[in-house]
Amino acid sequence: MQTKQKLLSEIPSVDEFLKSPYSKKWLESYPRKIVLRAIRYVLEIKRKEILKGGLSRELSIGTISPDIDQTIKELSAYKLKPLINATGVVIHTNLGRAVLSEKAVENINLIAGSYSNLEYELQEGKRGKRYSHIKPILKELSGAGDALVVNNNAAAVLLCLNTFAKDREVIVSRGELVEIGGSFRIPEVMRASSAILREVGTTNKTHLYDYENALCGNTVMLLKVHQSNYKLIGFTEEVSVEELVKLGREYKIPVMADLGSGCMIDLEKYGIHGEPTVQSIIKTGVDIVTFSGDKLLGGPQAGIIVGKEKFVQKLQKNPLLRAVRIDKLSLASLEATLMQYLDEEKAVKEIPTLCMLTQSIDVIKKRAKKIHVSLRKDIGNQALVEVIKDQSHAGGGSLPEVNFPTFVVSIKPVNISVNELEERLRIGEPPVIARIKDDALLIDARTVGDREIKSLVNCVKTALVT
Ligand SMILES: *Cc1c(COP(=O)(O)O)cnc(C)c1O
Repeated sequence: MQTKQKLLSEIPSVDEFLKSPYSKKWLESYPRKIVLRAIRYVLEIKRKEILKGGLSRELSIGTISPDIDQTIKELSAYKLKPLINATGVVIHTNLGRAVLSEKAVENINLIAGSYSNLEYELQEGKRGKRYSHIKPILKELSGAGDALVVNNNAAAVLLCLNTFAKDREVIVSRGELVEIGGSFRIPEVMRASSAILREVGTTNKTHLYDYENALCGNTVMLLKVHQSNYKLIGFTEEVSVEELVKLGREYKIPVMADLGSGCMIDLEKYGIHGEPTVQSIIKTGVDIVTFSGDKLLGGPQAGIIVGKEKFVQKLQKNPLLRAVRIDKLSLASLEATLMQYLDEEKAVKEIPTLCMLTQSIDVIKKRAKKIHVSLRKDIGNQALVEVIKDQSHAGGGSLPEVNFPTFVVSIKPVNISVNELEERLRIGEPPVIARIKDDALLIDARTVGDREIKSLVNCVKTALVT
């Protein structure tokens, strides 16, 4: 007891710390608030350790300062930070979805650091619309008559339903009442928009006559929702957008398609099947189409609405539009991304999402081998490392049934468990997110950038030796 009291009384005070040369150095680079918080925090921890009997030696400013130094660094680091995605999931919603192209990032920098003509008509010297910049390119790429962008696709769906179907009925197949990542569920978005959901068909089969039989005086829309993140297989039937458009024409009811992903190039060419392009959906004569900016399109978070002018114009009069409007940084990067689609061959190379999905298996294998060689050199016999074949996924509610052959670096640690290795990498600097399979940690080379290899190898090395 005596010694605990003595140890406690010998802890330097906050004031003493503030007068020390250490503080002088800290205060040169960090805000006073952070330095103070770090000193108080570390001193409190030391006090608790002493009381628990875990500390028996005398504490001086010199012995405590490394802890404070570390705490200052932690407190002043940004919470949102870049990481290495070694999961192989290209569009990973938890990891920020699409990685932007260089051109998109450049344009964000340009617009962010300057005034711009965001809502200003330069020719006429008067107020303009933020949506006008992106309309021509979206019309050209999609073939639609008009276009509008909002905050994200959930907002796009909400805005459309609220504009066209407030207190009126919208017919949707029971096979398409999807949930996308928890917070977006078609029935709930419908309710939030004040549209009335009229479910038809069954989970596995919906026929054209189901829609036709459900039509009534209160029906204002037929909605087709792309089954983005799952696939019905077996005894199934769904009605195509084309058929819905025909039915809609007959009864003068508009048809809307929520495409989810918004693929702008024909991925069939690259051996990826099952994702309709925006252009092909517009060709059916559908009235309104919505999709995300940051799924297969590979741009920023945004909700893109393309369709017939009459309908898109009506959306612009809804006061909700202001609440879900796109910000200028997203607009800047979206415009740059869309412009890249004018040269498809280049787009596939320069837009990271498309590049990672369409890269050849040889390129992935080469990258995996490069990681493997570096690791072997650096970690010696701390782990068994080998390159093996595996499967990656598109993710982000895209191409659920498509398996992409890939190569992974499999790491089996010798001195720690694979779970321990996974955790250390996850909380490391930078964090590395990988998956575990059959008692090995897998680094999927599909989503690791060439420029990240050095840092990745370093992280694995640090995680294995500490
Ligand atoms: C992803 C998705 C949404 C939501 O889009 P966000 O851009 O994430 O808001 C809506 N509908 C479908 C079919 C989707 O796949």
